[in-house]
Amino acid sequence: LGGSISRALAQMSNATVIDEKVLNDCLNEISRALLQSDVQFKMVRDMQTNIKRIVNLEALAAGTNKRRIMQQAVFTELCNMLDPGKPSFTPKKGKPSVVMFVGLQGSGKTTTCTKYAYYHQRKGFKPALVCADTFRAGAFDQLKQNATKAKIPFYGSYMESDPVKIAVEGVERFKKENCDLIIVDTSGRHKQEAALFEEMRQVSEATKPDLVIFVMDSSIGQAAFDQAQAFKQSVSVGAVIITKMDGHAKGGGALSAVAATKSPVIFIGTGEHIDEFEVFDVKPFLLQKLSEGSFTLRLMYEQFQNILKMGPIGQVFSMLPGFSSELMPKGHEKESQAKIKRYMTMMDSMTDAELDSTNPKLMTESRIIRIARGSGRPVRDVMDMLEEYKRLAKIWGKMKGLKIPKNVQHMSK
Ligand code: GDP
Ligand code: MG
Repeated sequence: LGGSISRALAQMSNATVIDEKVLNDCLNEISRALLQSDVQFKMVRDMQTNIKRIVNLEALAAGTNKRRIMQQAVFTELCNMLDPGKPSFTPKKGKPSVVMFVGLQGSGKTTTCTKYAYYHQRKGFKPALVCADTFRAGAFDQLKQNATKAKIPFYGSYMESDPVKIAVEGVERFKKENCDLIIVDTSGRHKQEAALFEEMRQVSEATKPDLVIFVMDSSIGQAAFDQAQAFKQSVSVGAVIITKMDGHAKGGGALSAVAATKSPVIFIGTGEHIDEFEVFDVKPFLLQKLSEGSFTLRLMYEQFQNILKMGPIGQVFSMLPGFSSELMPKGHEKESQAKIKRYMTMMDSMTDAELDSTNPKLMTESRIIRIARGSGRPVRDVMDMLEEYKRLAKIWGKMKGLKIPKNVQHMSK
């Protein structure tokens, strides 16, 4: 996806005349890439409209750099889709915070609550877990097991059926015990239904959370926008966590959730295990790289990491230039991943100087042979990898210097 987008942007750089057709071709290519990633149709259409409003080719005075204006408009619009421009509440040590988790059943709430608690515990917080899911049998047992393993205090009941009562009791108890991060796990239902949203509203009203986190399974695709919006309408969602990014999700749902809740993605879940959980911060990922100088092998390595971790959407988030259909052909994700891993293995055999160099002449025959030996790969493979690097570096050069929109720059962290 990031590939098609940056390719579309790069094609714009190649066009000799900038006219309506060039802009439309570019927008169509970007739209197709977004739709294929399960981004909601309406969002894609809005993006097109916004860009066309900014880039009014006829109104632009002669002599203005139309190409740059167009590229910048596309880029800005994509940044805005990824980032609502408003940081979420972050808990502070020693100051009691209540964080409530909401989401449909099976989205990964209970697992993610524990991951979130564990993450903060390792940072020196005193977290606690409250099980306000009285809907699903076994919910309390699951939370109890998770919490016990991670040595995190927990509260819940096998008898009580009122989620609001348990939530309030749990929060009060842990406030007394000077916990500074009190996490309330809630129930879900298989379907969105009025009873669930009413329950969320009541729990929220009773516990007055500092932050409500919407948990979403990355694979729900087109349904993401409506689901996120439905939760946002009943409780004041302030952040999103996307789970199961280790699967085969296309990831467009993440963009939809951001748009529907106007809240940032703060973490992603990358596995069932408690530490398969990563901070998600768009800014460093996304854009700082574009404004920086050179596309080094190290940068390519980092981009590969993003792709392996996040799938196609990782390319959008990292605005990776030029991931061509040769590297990530549709329907061949497994082979592509294997190839990327192979490239990374070879790069692991490179020296720091090689990774940070921008001088292609540095990669002499003897170095290539050394890398091949070190990684146990044929010389041909090393050459392939270096070719890919050159190709990406070239496209990179064409996109350099695009400005990061102000709201994104103002993100915290
Ligand atoms: P809840 O109903 O929303 O509380 O969802 P659970 O926390 O019970 O999770 C539902 C299933 O998803 C469980 O089998 C979890 O192990 C699994 N799960 C949760 N997060 C992840 C993740 O990031 N990756 C993977 N592979 N599985 C996950
Ligand atoms: Mg649960």
